[in-house]
Amino acid sequence: VRTGLSPAEALETILDATRPLGAETVAARDALGRVLVEPVVSDRRLPPADNSAMDGYAVQSSDLAGAGPENRVWLQVVCEMAAGAEPSRSIGSGEAARIFTGAPIPPGADAVVRQEDTTRDGDRVEIRVATPAHDNVRDAGEDVQVGDAVLAAGTRLGSAQLGVLASLGRAVVSVHQRPRVAILSGGDELVEPDRGVAGGGIVSSNSYSLAAHCHEIGAEPLYLGIARDTPEDLERHFRAGLSGHVLVSSAGVSVGDRDYVRPVLEKLGCELVFWGVEMKPGYPLAFGRFPSSTGPLVFALPGNPVSALVTFEQFVRPALRKMMGHKSWYRPVVQARLAEPLRKKAGRLHFVRVLLERVEGVIVARATGNQGSGVLSSMTAAQGLLVFPADATELREGDTASVQVLDADFFESASPGF
Ligand code: AMP
Ligand code: MG
Repeated sequence: VRTGLSPAEALETILDATRPLGAETVAARDALGRVLVEPVVSDRRLPPADNSAMDGYAVQSSDLAGAGPENRVWLQVVCEMAAGAEPSRSIGSGEAARIFTGAPIPPGADAVVRQEDTTRDGDRVEIRVATPAHDNVRDAGEDVQVGDAVLAAGTRLGSAQLGVLASLGRAVVSVHQRPRVAILSGGDELVEPDRGVAGGGIVSSNSYSLAAHCHEIGAEPLYLGIARDTPEDLERHFRAGLSGHVLVSSAGVSVGDRDYVRPVLEKLGCELVFWGVEMKPGYPLAFGRFPSSTGPLVFALPGNPVSALVTFEQFVRPALRKMMGHKSWYRPVVQARLAEPLRKKAGRLHFVRVLLERVEGVIVARATGNQGSGVLSSMTAAQGLLVFPADATELREGDTASVQVLDADFFESASPGF
């Protein structure tokens, strides 16, 4: 078992062991947030036919060459084209078709005059503007041509992408499977939130925050419950999670007498790849895999609530995103200016929980206060994790540092920008 890895080495090791999951076919209406396995290639033109961009009259533009307020042109209205109609005849010189937005341009016509520039009188229409060929006409295929790769493999399906799929007549779509993530908590002190706590009891929170994190990114959490601090009970719980793509446990992975997670995993045939990452919070993290690659990737996270969340952020989340077929795996990283100095010992990389604020176009970061790894409330305040590099001992007020932005709402704006 390798030990004392830097966070970057640990991450690389994990991602090397992680593969995108295979394909499954889902209804397009259920595909929001899913990631395309293969490109979507169009079998049709969009729009399917030349059509009108306006309500007005379809004409031969040559009839209107000299038209203007002082030189009005009268045309005979010979047919009407509503949206969805098939052209019944073609338009000749001196003729016009009444036409509505989205209706196909009848043969013979090459432009559309806006209704506002005309006056109707019975079956004739007076036109007051010259209208060059192509005016107010949307060309067949101007949006999409047959054979266009409209969406690339690896595209996340959002609202616009699902609209495009619908317009191409796709009711089903091939996407990467969602990772199933078995989640387990371990500890004799732990109780579920709906039970009373007595004596040395602690309400288990990790399973809930980690499951929520899975939901947030579109993975499927499966809660395995709380294992007692015995090898037998841990083994029983771990076995229940072996059919998932990923198994995430928290606690029992450190060096205490009752920390049985590592020996139990090894007993189950899991190869522990590393234990211990030079970071704070989150040092006692183990990562394992099954040699035949039939079993899940195993992340044994530390038990302290903040350590569990921070290690999930740094290692589990990117692995899950890679499995889901995403092209990028990390939170937005911004450069922020420190509002206050920070100090630490050299050696471990610190992820500092910070509040973020935009001041005159600059993002300013300040620590949330108590950085203890048990202080879960500080995690609710934290909008970002500031990277305090391993070798550094001091960051001064005004220095710039990288911050992983955890709070997507940070990029929501108080003004619309127009
Ligand atoms: P351990 O790694 O088992 O020594 O646990 C470290 C600390 O995390 C202890 O204070 C535990 O009580 C706490 N802890 C472990 N699991 C959980 C959990 N699921 N929810 C909240 N706290 C936990
Ligand atoms: Mg414990």
